[in-house]
Amino acid sequence: TTVYLNGEWLASEQAKVSVFDRGFLFSDGIYEVVPVYQGHPFLLELHLQRLHRSLTEIGIQTPTEDFWNNLVAELIQRNADSDCLVYIQVTMGAEAQRSHLPTGDLQPTIFACSSPLHVHWQVPQPAKVAVLDDIRWQRCDIKSISLLGNIMLKRKAAARGAIEPLLHRDGRITEGASCNYFAVHQGKLLTPPADHLILAGITRTWVLHLAQQLQIDTVEEPIYVNQLHHFDELFLTSSSREVQPVGQIDDIIVGNGQCGEVTARLAEAFHASKRHLIQE
Ligand code: PMP
Repeated sequence: TTVYLNGEWLASEQAKVSVFDRGFLFSDGIYEVVPVYQGHPFLLELHLQRLHRSLTEIGIQTPTEDFWNNLVAELIQRNADSDCLVYIQVTMGAEAQRSHLPTGDLQPTIFACSSPLHVHWQVPQPAKVAVLDDIRWQRCDIKSISLLGNIMLKRKAAARGAIEPLLHRDGRITEGASCNYFAVHQGKLLTPPADHLILAGITRTWVLHLAQQLQIDTVEEPIYVNQLHHFDELFLTSSSREVQPVGQIDDIIVGNGQCGEVTARLAEAFHASKRHLIQE
């Protein structure tokens, strides 16, 4: 496949980054993932806003929105990808030598590639998640390429036969290793607020918008591990999994273990909005 690296389009084997790149040495960088359906990037503007915010937070000068729009369009075209995930990574850049404090005026390293995406057109089967202590840092609102905590937690969850961890801090639920959570309790949709302890998922934002359109009562408030027994439904969201029902939390069966009614309505609305994008 063809990838983008610092102004060049290259075969992936040809794309090389310095060993003194701060992304390689310190994970000093930001990333973004955009789903593409039949050649159309989905909610690109929201993804670019989040990218801009993360870059600004860590002090990387960001290219213009036009630059990113053109980059995404050309990447899709060059790879003739219809359904894919566009991956964008920007690091602080390469230095002459390793030093914690960034020195001089660094040129950010900009990289983009695409990978295949399995698009859901039906609501997927309910999955299992595993409750785990959220051991990550306090700025999970920044989409950092430093994902060591997320990866350790994902592996722990996988070892328990779960697709994702359900993370909490002192009993308060945050998010997954690469997804956000929504619960349904007595007809109300609940999700943790988008504070510094979670990444504000674009899929999360879109589901909140769809819930409003469907006139589903929604509350962005903390939810707790000791409430898990009482939830009627639970689902997770991410750009790659879209709306994924959760049927089991460790040994707890959620509802009757099947996809709940509110989850199904939101998943259907999500699919409809993708169809709408493609037909535009
Ligand atoms: N939280 C974390 C920690 C994530 O890595 C992701 C996926 N990148 C999400 C939530 C979901 O975000 P999105 O809906 O934008 O894919």
